Amino acid sequence: MERTFVMIKPDGVDRGLVGEIISRIENKGLKLLNLKLICASSDILENHYMEHRNKPFFQDLVDSMKDKSVLAMVVEGENSIKLMRIMVGDKDPLCAFPGTIRGDYAFETTRNLIHASDSLEAAEREIKIWFGDKL
Ligand code: ADP
Ligand code: MG
Repeated sequence: MERTFVMIKPDGVDRGLVGEIISRIENKGLKLLNLKLICASSDILENHYMEHRNKPFFQDLVDSMKDKSVLAMVVEGENSIKLMRIMVGDKDPLCAFPGTIRGDYAFETTRNLIHASDSLEAAEREIKIWFGDKL
């Protein structure tokens, strides 16, 4: 069984899309192992998005999320990492296909509703950042 880290970003929480997104995950047959609604500090966001620290959008991305509620989740299932990335869709709403979460609901690239780990290494790192060593 594979585990991945999924986060509904503040724009997803604000727009009331938590229920819709969790339904999609559960309807796909993936299991929620843990979830928590937390206020994201800039420290945790800067760590989470470390790989993008030198990109021009980095500061705006962190600022758009910091001190706001995010829903952090650990999702488990066979091929959960790839399945979640497919369900999430492209980060650019102009490229995200209908039927994906971003394709159906997102209209901006920075505020694009949801994050899902893109590799096994990223999933392990991100689960540790948001949930510690307990999982
Ligand atoms: P993903 O979230 O699909 O894994 P990336 O890892 O490339 O995408 O980027 C992380 C997040 O940074 C994106 O979800 C988006 O919020 C933001 N982002 C990425 N590229 C851009 C960009 N060109 N302009 C604005 N924001 C961006
Ligand atoms: Mg990414």
